[in-house]
Amino acid sequence: MSADTLSTEARSKKFGAQEADGIVRCDACPVLCRIRPGRSGACSRYANDNGHLVRTDPVVLLHDAAESGRKLVPFGAAEWDGRVLDPSRTFVTGIGAGTTYPDYKPAPFIVASEHEGVETVTVVTEGIFSYCGVKVKIDTDRHLGPERAAIRVNGEEVGHVTTAEYGSQMLSVGGVRHLTGGSKKEGTVTCDTLLRLCAGDPVTMTIEGGHEVVVQAGHAPIVDGTPEQRMRVGCGSATVGIFARQWLGHADEV
Ligand code: SF4
Repeated sequence: MSADTLSTEARSKKFGAQEADGIVRCDACPVLCRIRPGRSGACSRYANDNGHLVRTDPVVLLHDAAESGRKLVPFGAAEWDGRVLDPSRTFVTGIGAGTTYPDYKPAPFIVASEHEGVETVTVVTEGIFSYCGVKVKIDTDRHLGPERAAIRVNGEEVGHVTTAEYGSQMLSVGGVRHLTGGSKKEGTVTCDTLLRLCAGDPVTMTIEGGHEVVVQAGHAPIVDGTPEQRMRVGCGSATVGIFARQWLGHADEV
């Protein structure tokens, strides 16, 4: 690689387009900011330095940080032997502790331990189920229902449609309002829905003002009786901008 490919000028040409009046158009993301000299783009990550597109933060190199004495967080201090937990430490889960939080009874177990020379105590209680919920990511481009629309299972409201993420439709299911705040039937159906989703069983949900969808972990969603076949993969700009060559020949359209 020639030294010039790494120069500010060369990188600016590659990643930004120079326009009139010293403006540089950043093409690092689809926002395509037109950045005036001495200013930064909408995200503050890129700036116009005298007509050149530059990053506002330097790339962090671990060995440079170590040599200059900057703070580092150690990781991988020892080879991983394949065990999930460090056998020298007692891992307390709280399952079976026999009480809940918040509660009027004191915690039945208090575990003492030492962490970096500091004595600590862990108060052990069981997690309260009425606060539990599940966020469901549904891999479909299809509109399932308006954001905030109620989701019903067997006619009971068990959650709502929440903000889509990376092209996937997202549902929020459970939570205290449905588990204990409504009727007994609503709580029971919500609890059953959470358990079935987490066990990998199919659950049929109806979205108000939207569609019926059968959701099952590890399986394509079934929307109004039609199993989903395709979806947009992840973040569109990343897919197109970074992986276009890899997709060529494998995807219907690139
Ligand atoms: S938002 Fe940031 S990355 Fe995107 S075009 Fe503007 S300056 Fe570039």
